Amino acid sequence: MRPLQQSFGQVQAFSTSNGFIGFHQERLEVAELSAELFDDLSLTSAWSELKRESPQGSSRPALQSVTINVTQICNLHCTYCAAGGDGTYGQPQRRMAVEKVLPGLTRALHNLEAGDEFRVSFIGGEPLLYPEGIRWVVDHVRSTRPDVHTSFVVITNGTLFSESVVELLASLKIEVKLSLDGPPEINDRSRPQKNGRGITAEVVSGLQRLLARRSELEAVTVSAVFGKHNVDAEKTYDFLSQFQFDQYGFSIDLNANDSALLHSFLLSVEKLARRLASHSEAELLKLRFFSDLFDQLDARAFLNDHCGGGTKHLAVDTQGQTSGCHWWLGKSKKALGSFEAFSPEKAISDIESRNCQACWARGICGGGCAFAHEPFANTLDKKNPLFCLQQRYLIQLGIELYARFRR
Ligand code: SF4
Ligand code: SF4
Repeated sequence: MRPLQQSFGQVQAFSTSNGFIGFHQERLEVAELSAELFDDLSLTSAWSELKRESPQGSSRPALQSVTINVTQICNLHCTYCAAGGDGTYGQPQRRMAVEKVLPGLTRALHNLEAGDEFRVSFIGGEPLLYPEGIRWVVDHVRSTRPDVHTSFVVITNGTLFSESVVELLASLKIEVKLSLDGPPEINDRSRPQKNGRGITAEVVSGLQRLLARRSELEAVTVSAVFGKHNVDAEKTYDFLSQFQFDQYGFSIDLNANDSALLHSFLLSVEKLARRLASHSEAELLKLRFFSDLFDQLDARAFLNDHCGGGTKHLAVDTQGQTSGCHWWLGKSKKALGSFEAFSPEKAISDIESRNCQACWARGICGGGCAFAHEPFANTLDKKNPLFCLQQRYLIQLGIELYARFRR
């Protein structure tokens, strides 16, 4: 009987329900294989006929994105919140001190070249508790470097879409990413108010107000967290898709540390992905994981660091203090100093620091999310095995679907 996966040097060969697929793990190339090539150990030499030069990314150190904590207070009490359970990150400050954040932004923007890309994400707590702060930052970034391609996203729980807030978001023409875990029977349990009562009905009504101005926004996307409260990706998608979001981000709370739960979630995501792919590539690519993966495979961009935290990406708290990840804001051991004084250094790659050299998926995964791996920081291989299982499962599925659409 044929194995389901074979490794030939730098090439992984997968036997799938849609035929045989080869994946070159250094060059990130994907190709369909005949049964003979799947079985034949000389596959790697056959592969060299497909050789193309990989595009080279810029090695110039510069920040490409920042996540700014606009507020460190929240009006909900989500069951899986890692920001101190109340959006405060355990810190007393509640609102962004604009005078402590703008100088760092100015410095980061002056390090960019015309045509570079720069993305700002606004988080909290709940960032729409301080909408004027968002306007200040957007206006400052756009006026400081009109020659840079800037983009902005507000990540919100959707409870504050009043007429005036929607007006502000539309006038700024930015992306709004709603955190919503699914239908009321799910979302009311996982994202309740502080008094324990559900709020999904109010979120949906505010969302309708926002969607009435959708043509003025950059995009309206959604992000759902799965875990003990829900592993049904199909049911969640079927509820959320009535609002026709531009993109759907699904992730599981790995803190549950439950492999049975993760397996159920992955099987459900696979069913959903295959269902959407049976309609069209565009439908599939509404799932953010597959859209990002297809972009990476198109660019053949080998990733050395998963999110670039502390080098290409920085999280900034309300007082202008930084860290490599927003989940580490307020933790002194992870602090990277003031935003204004920060300078990106060439960091050791996540792949090296986490001993990922032997993993076939490393060029796509880039060593993975440091926050997800953190509980394993003192182990020999320094990786969360459930995170790796998830990555390899979804990457293999994505490679198979990529081969089908790009054949
Ligand atoms: S899947 Fe795991 S082992 Fe592979 S690159 Fe990602 S973090 Fe490293
Ligand atoms: S470490 Fe993980 S959670 Fe933090 S910014 Fe990077 S990918 Fe996101």
